[in-house]
Amino acid sequence: MRAILSEATPAARDRTRRIWCVHSAAEALNVLRDLSETPTVSTLALAFQAANHELALVGGPVRDAFLGRGINDLDFTTSARPDQILALVEPVAEAVWDIGRDFGTIGAQIQGERVEITTYRSDAYDGESRKPIVQFGESLVDDLRRRDFTVNAMAVLLPQLSLIDPFGGIDHLVAGRLVTPAPAEESFGDDPLRMMRAARFVAQLGFTLDEHAEWAMTELAPAIERISAERVSDELVKLLSTDSPLEGVRLLVSTGIADRVLPEVSALRLEVDEHHHHKDVYEHSLTVLAQAIELERERHPDAEPDVPLRLAALLHDIGKPETRRLEPGGTVTFHHHDMVGAKLAIKRLKALRFDKETTAHVARLIELHLRFFGYSEGVWSDSAVRRYVRDAGDQLERLHILTRADVTTRNTRKADRLAHAYDDLERRIAELAEREEIEAVRPDLDGEQIMAILNIPAGRLVGQAYSFLLNLRLDEGPLGEEEATRRLRAWHDSLAGNESG
Ligand code: ATP
Ligand code: MG
Repeated sequence: MRAILSEATPAARDRTRRIWCVHSAAEALNVLRDLSETPTVSTLALAFQAANHELALVGGPVRDAFLGRGINDLDFTTSARPDQILALVEPVAEAVWDIGRDFGTIGAQIQGERVEITTYRSDAYDGESRKPIVQFGESLVDDLRRRDFTVNAMAVLLPQLSLIDPFGGIDHLVAGRLVTPAPAEESFGDDPLRMMRAARFVAQLGFTLDEHAEWAMTELAPAIERISAERVSDELVKLLSTDSPLEGVRLLVSTGIADRVLPEVSALRLEVDEHHHHKDVYEHSLTVLAQAIELERERHPDAEPDVPLRLAALLHDIGKPETRRLEPGGTVTFHHHDMVGAKLAIKRLKALRFDKETTAHVARLIELHLRFFGYSEGVWSDSAVRRYVRDAGDQLERLHILTRADVTTRNTRKADRLAHAYDDLERRIAELAEREEIEAVRPDLDGEQIMAILNIPAGRLVGQAYSFLLNLRLDEGPLGEEEATRRLRAWHDSLAGNESG
C-alpha cells in the first residue's frame, strides 16, 4: 500500500495524456517535495517525526498537486491525539486554535502559514440521529476510508513523501471520476453533506460523479434535510464560486437535492406548452449564470468570485412559475415576476441563513432586472437614467452585468441591438455622473434648511418636503439653493392652500 511516490504513479503518467489537467507524477512529486521543504511543512514534519508520530498531508493539497491546481490550504492527518498535537505544535507555532479539539482538529499558524492537523478518525454514526460519534483511529487507511471521495482520500506521509492511495484515488483522478471510498449509499447516509460536496467537486474539478453514487444521491436526497442550513449554504457558496458551476447545479436539480435546498430553481423547469410559447426558463437561467460569470471576469479580472451576483443570476426568474398566465390570444405572460421573484429570493436566502446584506442585494437585483428592457424602445429621459442609478445604489455594477447576461436570444441581431443599447445606457450614466455625481443624489436643501425656511419643527412634514425636493432633483437635476428654496415655498403654500380650501 505504501510506495514511494515516484514509483507509485507510472499508471498516472501513462494516462495523463488523455486528461489535460492531470500533472505528471514527476511534476506532482516536485510540487509536493517543494511543499515539504517549505519552513511550515518541514518544521511540522520534523517535530512529529522526533515524537514518533505519523504525519501526512491529506485531501485537498495532495489532490491538487496531482491536478496541477494551486494548493489552497494545508490539511494534515496524524496518529497523534489532540493533546499530543497541541504539545508538539505549541512550541513551534505563532498561534494555535483548539476549537475543533473535540473532533480531533487543531489549527495553527506556523512560519506565517495556517495549517489544520487532525487526529486519525474512524467515525461511527449513531443510527438514530445519524450524528457522527467522533472516534479516534489507529490507522491512516481507516482515516482515509471515511473521507468523501477517493480523490480526496489520498495522503502523503512526511517527511518520506510516500503516497498512500488505498482506494484508487490516482486512477479516479486521471479518469476524472468522483467515487466514494465506502459504498455510496452508506457514505451519503452517514453524512448527507457529501452529496452537496459532490456537486461542488463536479463543478470545481470538472469531474463526473460515479453512476452508482449518482443513483445513491437521488435515493438519499431527502436526507440532506438533516444538514444545517449553514452547512448547506456554505457548500452552495463554494459551488457558485467555481469557474463554471453549471454542471454542479444540474446535478443538484437532477438528483432532487435542489428540491430540498433550492426548490425555486427546480421549479424553473416549466413544462413546455404545445405552442412553445416560452423559453425553457431553467436552461435560460443557467445560461445567464454562465454569462454573468464571463462578464464578471471580463470586467473585474482580479476580483474574488461575486457570489451575490451569481445568486441573482441563478434566481432572477424564480418569480416566473408563479406568475405565468396564458392570455386569451395564446401568449404567455409573467407579469410582475421581478417583484414576486425578489420576494421568493428573500424567503429562500433567509431560510439558507445568508446574511442580511447578501439577501438584500440579491433581492434588489432581481427586482430591477427588467427595468432596462424598456430602454431600447423609447430612449430614457435623463430623469429615468437618474432613477435607474439611484434605485440600483451600490448594486449598479452588478445590475449592469446581470442585465447584459440576461440576453440569451439566439437572434444575434437582437442580441447586438440590446448590447449596444446597454452600452449607450452605461455611457449616459457615466456622462450624467460626471456632470452631477448622481450616486450621491441629495435634494438641494437638507432637513435643517427645510425646517429653517418653512419655520416648522422636526416631523412628518419635513420628510414630505425632503422627498418633494428629492423628486425635483431626480427629475430636473441640480437646481441650486435659491431656486430650490423658491420651489419649496411654492410647494408648502400649495399644501396650505389645499388644506384651507
Ligand atoms: P478545498 O480545496 O476546497 O479546500 P478540500 O478537499 O481540501 O478542498 P475541505 O473541505 O478542506 O476540502 O476538506 C478537507 C478534506 O477533508 C477533504 O479533502 C476530504 O478528505 C475530507 N472531508 C471534508 N469534508 C468531508 C465530509 N463531509 N465527509 C468526508 N470527508 C470530508
Ligand atoms: Mg481544504
